[in-house]
Amino acid sequence: PRQQEVNMNELIGEVVDLSSQRAKYANVKVHQVLDDNLNLIQASPSELQQVLLNLINNAIDAIDHKQGGEVTISTENGDGVVNIHVADTGQGIPDAVLKRVFDPFFTTKPVGKGTGLGLSICYGIIEKMGGKISVNSSVGVGATFHISLPASRG
Ligand code: ADP
Ligand code: MG
Repeated sequence: PRQQEVNMNELIGEVVDLSSQRAKYANVKVHQVLDDNLNLIQASPSELQQVLLNLINNAIDAIDHKQGGEVTISTENGDGVVNIHVADTGQGIPDAVLKRVFDPFFTTKPVGKGTGLGLSICYGIIEKMGGKISVNSSVGVGATFHISLPASRG
């Protein structure tokens, strides 16, 4: 895939637009808390879209649609990196599951609802870009995925 200078804030805005119908239907509010001075990154925009879409879809899946909930996507500059966080107020992830979420074909969803490939694909894309992806969670509170990607120089 073609690498180019990417403004993560713009890309997040596009993906939130793409997700807006599904979020609304699922009673989920999506917030963006974006750093105005965010550094650019050198990456393939379509792959990054895929990563964010996967994370947002998982977050929506984790929220009880009767009760509703929130997804907050935030960005900030780090030391030579750009950090992206996707936090949700969903059911959270128990420790036994947390260890396996990035494994290919690992899913807790009913047959036909999940392939278990989303996060393993995200992991591969981020690794290939020289970045990192991790997750932490409290059961009953929610889950937060963290991505850091090398900022482009200059
Ligand atoms: P799938 O969505 O097809 O199940 P993924 O690789 O995207 O596959 O996710 C693997 C598993 O990780 C999910 O089945 C779910 O158990 C867990 N998971 C991922 N994201 C979240 C989240 N935001 N909140 C709770 N659990 C999650
Ligand atoms: Mg998924």
